[in-house]
Amino acid sequence: MKLLEERILKDGQVLGENILKVDSFLTHQVDYQLMKEIGKVFADHFKNAGITKVVTIEASGIAPAIYVAESLGLPMVFAKKAKNITMTEGILTAEVYSFTKQVTSQVSIASKFISQDDKVLIIDDFLANGQAAKGLIEIITQAGAKVAAVGIVVEKSFQDGRELLEKEGVNVVSLARLAAFENGQVVFTQADI
Ligand code: 5GP
Repeated sequence: MKLLEERILKDGQVLGENILKVDSFLTHQVDYQLMKEIGKVFADHFKNAGITKVVTIEASGIAPAIYVAESLGLPMVFAKKAKNITMTEGILTAEVYSFTKQVTSQVSIASKFISQDDKVLIIDDFLANGQAAKGLIEIITQAGAKVAAVGIVVEKSFQDGRELLEKEGVNVVSLARLAAFENGQVVFTQADI
């Protein structure tokens, strides 16, 4: 997605060896116009895929996921990272190791929000080693639902996430794919859409 690549070049900051900071438009301050375009691009790609629900994980997946859901006219559910006393009924959980926070947390979705009739599109802001997506797939599978695909805003293709997910037969569709960081600059490889 050219608009996204241009924005990454303009406002993204490479931190250390493998982190891209995009807090001015995606992970902290959110550019809703860009999110809206992201929503349209994913929706156009998946409009005939029979998707019934969009699922993401808090916090930074929520912004793109809500616009994808709006564009497809579908509900959006996000997995919660902290235990919540209001979640009293059936809860589906998975362990997720966070790449940026370097802690393992239990993520959960109330079972009433995913059924065996659902075909789910997972959306997340970043794909690094694939742990967040893997946890969501585990939860969706526990619910007896199907995963249609994983849609990613920024994929770091030099990490293992795509390989891990594709090995499990999951279709990964990324709007921007980073091949490498060279001298603090982002180098792209061909994105999926
Ligand atoms: P994974 O589970 O694929 O290893 O990592 C994905 C999660 O880690 C994303 O949901 C995102 O929140 C965070 N993440 C991974 N890499 C980066 C990065 O380079 N920059 C930012 N801002 N977040 C990242």
